[in-house]
Amino acid sequence: GLLRPFRNEPSVDFTRPAQRAAFAQALSQVREKFGATYPLFINGQNLATRQTRPSVNPAQPEEIVGQVSQAGPEQIDQAVAAAQAALSGWRDTAAAERATSLIRAAKAARARLFELAAWQVFEIGKQWDQAHADVCEAIDFLEYYAREMLRLDNPPQPASLPGEDNRLLYQSRGVAAVIAPWNFPLAISCGMVAAALVTGNTVVYKPSSLTPVIGWTLQEILRDAGLPAGVFNYVPGSSAEIGDLLVEHPAVSLIAFTGSQEVGLRILHKASALGPGQRQVKKVVAEMGGKNAVIVDEDADLDEVIPAILASAFGFQGQKCSACSRLIVVDAVYTALRERLVQAARSLRIGPAQDPAFFMGPVAEPAAVEKIQKYIQLARQEGELVYQSKVPEGPGFYVPITLVEGIRPEHRLAREEVFGPLLALMRADDFDQALHWANAPPQALTGGVFSRSPAHLERARGEFRVGNLYLNRGITGALVARQPFGGFGLSGTGTKAGGADYLLHFMDSRCVTENT
Ligand code: GLU
Repeated sequence: GLLRPFRNEPSVDFTRPAQRAAFAQALSQVREKFGATYPLFINGQNLATRQTRPSVNPAQPEEIVGQVSQAGPEQIDQAVAAAQAALSGWRDTAAAERATSLIRAAKAARARLFELAAWQVFEIGKQWDQAHADVCEAIDFLEYYAREMLRLDNPPQPASLPGEDNRLLYQSRGVAAVIAPWNFPLAISCGMVAAALVTGNTVVYKPSSLTPVIGWTLQEILRDAGLPAGVFNYVPGSSAEIGDLLVEHPAVSLIAFTGSQEVGLRILHKASALGPGQRQVKKVVAEMGGKNAVIVDEDADLDEVIPAILASAFGFQGQKCSACSRLIVVDAVYTALRERLVQAARSLRIGPAQDPAFFMGPVAEPAAVEKIQKYIQLARQEGELVYQSKVPEGPGFYVPITLVEGIRPEHRLAREEVFGPLLALMRADDFDQALHWANAPPQALTGGVFSRSPAHLERARGEFRVGNLYLNRGITGALVARQPFGGFGLSGTGTKAGGADYLLHFMDSRCVTENT
């Protein structure tokens, strides 16, 4: 273990012409590969299926990014069997060697950083800088969990007495099903997969149906790292057709999931049933949604508040579980803030993510447009629209930026995750009420407070109960090793991705006592 200490992969500065040119070139390189057909990857082999599904550019849906083989029940069985067969060999591979595989994968990703980001621009409509940040986060997960595994390979030992030697060790849980989201299509996939692999589990990975080509790039990185056959298997397919099968498979021991509350709860429910021949209680690591609030106190610095809110609420079209969807403003500053926010929102341009002139792009799919439009209708009933942007003409999946005011804690707009650029303004009498409202929904993922009062910031530390609280800054963009990410309440099972406790969820521990 002669690894240098962990540091985050540096971000890119696209104001530099050389970086801009390099990224534009990566975009055209990727564009040339559009329309290729991607197989499954099971037991170290590519496997094309008869059924394929197009993955499209949400800004230009007639543009087919890739045609992707679809796993059905038979391929799920095959992939789980391959993972099961590879398990004992991988479990018993030295932790240091598993960690080294992750470092090799990080190196492979770093060598293709711009290209990997370019796929995200086209396949899911992520802006240049955010796509780049997603790949950096993926690399960070690989580097960080490799080091974490080395640490946990020598865990703190229980007490021993004269004549009694006690030793604790960790082992993998078994076959892990990783069910990934489309919004951080490489980072979150890579984080869950890396954690499962480095702890000695073998993996059946189902990327989101909206980002299977990006999922394929994860497969390529791991293939370059030289994992033994069957240790990592890539099975894109329809959630409706194979999601439950994967979760219910009796040979699956662990399910790592990031996505909606509805699907997360369904997985927890399905995972509790005992299948034929099943030999373990399934562990579920689930990251679900948020209904995240930012409180603006009466003495907040509005010059700082405005850009932080725009980025937190509308960055990547509001499609982050960390996004700000409630802005709770103390009465004394409400009118001034609202005015400035509307002015600032007016300046935001919407268009295809491949053009860096646009702040916001298309949302993920037609179903997202429909859902967000329904919530905009609801916003009109529960409150009053204070601002709505135009949407670009053309075929992309666009929705407007919408600001609604008059929202109260009991409204659905204050309780249900929209996952789009719809921000609810809530006018609170004072800081006390703002804090109370902030904690009202059952989700507890991220939150923020802008205040210059040390006493109020201190109260927020203690009383604003969310997994990730940010004081005087935006509430998205948690960094591996610096902001362990994840919530509790209805936001998930309480794990912290990119934090020191995360890998423990992927292992069982054994204590061996010898009478000496
Ligand atoms: N980790 C991301 C952030 O801090 C959010 C992840 C998610 O949306 O699932 O912004």
